[in-house]
This record gives sequence, C-alpha cells and structure tokens, in this order.
Amino acid sequence: MSLVINNLSVSRAQTPIINRVSLSISPGELHILSGVNGAGKSTLLNALMANPLYEVTSGEIVLDDIDLTKLPTFERARAGLFLSLQAPPEVPGVPMDDFLRTSLEAITGTRPHTLPFERDLQEALGLLRLDPKFAKRSLNEGFSGGEKKRSELLQLLMLKPKYALLDEPDSGLDPDAVGYLIEVITKLRAQGTGIFLVTHYEHVIKSLNPTAIHKLDLGNITLQNT
Ligand code: ADP
Ligand code: MG
Repeated sequence: MSLVINNLSVSRAQTPIINRVSLSISPGELHILSGVNGAGKSTLLNALMANPLYEVTSGEIVLDDIDLTKLPTFERARAGLFLSLQAPPEVPGVPMDDFLRTSLEAITGTRPHTLPFERDLQEALGLLRLDPKFAKRSLNEGFSGGEKKRSELLQLLMLKPKYALLDEPDSGLDPDAVGYLIEVITKLRAQGTGIFLVTHYEHVIKSLNPTAIHKLDLGNITLQNT
C-alpha cells in the first residue's frame, strides 16, 4: 500500500521540466516537497493529478497497486488521489456545499445522505474556523487568498482521499490559519492519509515532523536529511 512515483519525467509545452523523479509515500506519511520558485513543484503535482497541460514522457504512477499513469483525473480521484491547487479558480454559480456533495457522489458512486453530509460539513467548517454561511457561497468566488486556501482544505476534509497532494496550502494564510492547517494535516495523517506537501515555511515543516524532505532542483529530486 503506497503511492509510488517511479522514474517520472514531465514536460510542459514540449519543454522537459521534471527529470526521472522517484519516490514513494505510504499511508500516514508526510513527505515535503521543497525547491525554489520555478523548480517544478507544481508541475510534478499537476502531472500526478493528470492535468492535461502536462505530459508524462516516462515513468509510472501507482496508487495502492492501481496503475494511474494513463488514467484521467476523475479516475485518479476515484482511486483516492486529491490535489489542492496553488491558485484555485473561481467558479461562480456553484455553491460550495452542492459542489462538495456532487464531488463525493462522483467519487464514491452514491449521493451522500443529507444528515451525515451536513454533520461532516459542519465539523469540517468548525475545524477550519469558517462560518457555516461559507458553504453557501459560490466556489471561491470573491474569496480572499486565505479563504481560497481554506476552501481547498474543506474539500480535502470532506473528500477524505487516501493520498493528498497539497501545493502551498500555507501561502497567504494568517498565523492562526497556519495553526488550523497544521491541525488538519496532523488529523489526516493520524487517520492514515498519505500527504505530499509543498511548502516554503521552515516553521510549518518543523511543527509537522515529516517523514522525509525532497528537494527539487532543475527537475531532479534529492532526499534531504530530516
Ligand atoms: P514551482 O511550482 O516549483 O514554482 P512550476 O512547476 O510552476 O514551478 O514551474 C516549473 C517550470 O515550468 C518553470 O521553469 C516555469 O517557467 C515552466 N513553465 C510554466 N509554465 C510553462 C509553460 N506554459 N510553458 C513552458 N514552461 C512553463
Ligand atoms: Mg508552484
């Protein structure tokens, strides 16, 4: 059981960006992905989630023995993979709660019952210190930078993936919200979620006690001492 990335190379617009990266994330592990701006961190995460802008030119991605390499994004989500975006888009006209319920139905194959869904939603909103009215707003529309990041975390808490790819979930968060982020990651790890986290913040890394730190440099990855 693990998320295995094996010899993965990724190009964007015919330009090679990631060069034969390999690593493996087991349930409950936290792996940090670091590297300067432009190193290819978002490229790697987007390729793992099959963003069509990125082309995998070699290697494979395997989640708990399911080969994801050729599967589209929705099938990767169904297999248990989740990506929180560095810059989430605004989706006017789609309320957060409808979006979450429909996403859950798409992933699990059954529409969640109203009562347990609402209970989970209120619990997740509480953990993120978000007002219940937040879930009635259109997805990310007019949200502040910090609210968009918490909207991604709300999706993470509600969709309960096996493995979560988190692209700078702490950028633009005030110090209190960084505290909730640390709580969320710690809680998910304790429940067995494997996490691949891009962050630039040393204090976030220290308070999370990661399994491993990987540094991307010109598309190559090296393991740092933790
Ligand atoms: P990071 O997330 O580590 O800051 P990115 O994955 O966003 O890095 O970017 C990796 C590299 O891909 C950068 O050198 C960037 O300039 C390049 N890149 C981004 N978009 C495009 C594009 N549309 N065409 C070609 N190269 C791109
Ligand atoms: Mg990035």
